[in-house]
Amino acid sequence: MRTIAVLGATGSIGTQALDIVEKYPNDFRAVCLAAMSNSEGLFKLARKFSPEVCALVKPAEIPEDLKHIRWFFGENSAREAVLFARPDDALCAVVGIAGLGTVLSSLDVCKRVLLANKEALVTGGSLVMRKAKEKKVELLPVDSEHSAIFQCLKAAGENAPRRIILTCSGGALRTWDRERIENASVGEVLSHPTWRMGSKITVDCASLMNKGLEVIEASYLFDMPPEKIDVVIHPQSVIHSMVEFRDGAVLAQLGKPDMRGPIGYAMAHPGRIDYGGERLDFARLDALTFEAPDGERFPCLGYARQALKTGGSAPVILNGANEEAVLWFLSGKTRFGNIAKAVYAALNECAVHPVNSEEDIYTADALARKCARKALERLGPEA
Ligand code: NDP
Ligand code: MG
Repeated sequence: MRTIAVLGATGSIGTQALDIVEKYPNDFRAVCLAAMSNSEGLFKLARKFSPEVCALVKPAEIPEDLKHIRWFFGENSAREAVLFARPDDALCAVVGIAGLGTVLSSLDVCKRVLLANKEALVTGGSLVMRKAKEKKVELLPVDSEHSAIFQCLKAAGENAPRRIILTCSGGALRTWDRERIENASVGEVLSHPTWRMGSKITVDCASLMNKGLEVIEASYLFDMPPEKIDVVIHPQSVIHSMVEFRDGAVLAQLGKPDMRGPIGYAMAHPGRIDYGGERLDFARLDALTFEAPDGERFPCLGYARQALKTGGSAPVILNGANEEAVLWFLSGKTRFGNIAKAVYAALNECAVHPVNSEEDIYTADALARKCARKALERLGPEA
């Protein structure tokens, strides 16, 4: 029996993880649940899983039957909750840089951190990796591509990879021309062809920023330089990623596109559990196809690579500008095409500084957001 904190419990990853907890009550106990503002959703989960601690960023009136639970409120509530609960594992599934603190606090008290929150590595990669090493905490990837690479590397034993190949569905706009992409509506961008996820990551998939963030994530997790991390578009999302070795052999991990796979793998590691998903039926599988990503129509992947090469606060600037622009897009304040332009502007206009502390990261993030807002105002909704 392992105790687990689910940080981002009401989200797409959080609820799928809790489905696994529910399916395996003898193996997992959810002792800590955290969310931002969805209090009704969290109350329902609290009734079902009886955690010891809960956290909400936005304070809410706690119903009588849940008052025995220890509640934390406010911006740092998820951090405080995990520090209080001290579970074996923390599933870090808050979205955005807001999750960085939860990852760092989880590393302070947990035996293992199950990492979905890729923005924590994009913005705080060196801090997070250093702390995991210092504290001897196992960092298990939940992002499907990184879970696939992790599984392939395990299978490879002592053999070092020559290259990592991240697969990418191509997102909702993969086949669209440039002008149509510029003006894609929120509804169009959110209809992802293969995965069902939260709205922020689905927008990132459509711009290929998600794959850019994942290149940075892979670079930290597997200690690989950017030139050894390739991206290939694979619209069927059956191969979740691959690793190539010095003899040219390539190992791949395959499965149905179902996040309960990588979530369950991280939760049960080093074992495996049956999460109840569909099997791959090879005889009924259509062709598996591959193509190169198009940097002209989807410039964000290139911006992310550049930010990783630049180092220092450049990935923080990339991420902050993107988070801000995605918020604007989702609230109808700017066009889809302006997301990439705002990121480009921030990368060009914000000075890059070394990152030695959490403070440095938040300073760079605030600056990038300010820069992105200025760019978005300049571009205007119709520009
Ligand atoms: P969702 O938007 O579905 O869920 C986000 C969760 O985080 C919600 O529970 C939300 O609470 C909570 N939250 C947001 N801000 C805070 C905060 N400041 N403090 C505490 N809780 C907060 O996102 P996803 O589940 O899609 O994604 C989560 C992370 O996992 C992201 O980093 C994403 O990139 C990564 N990921 C997701 C995948 C997926 O399939 N969804 C696949 C691979 C990676 P509330 O409901 O109250 O807003
Ligand atoms: Mg992914």
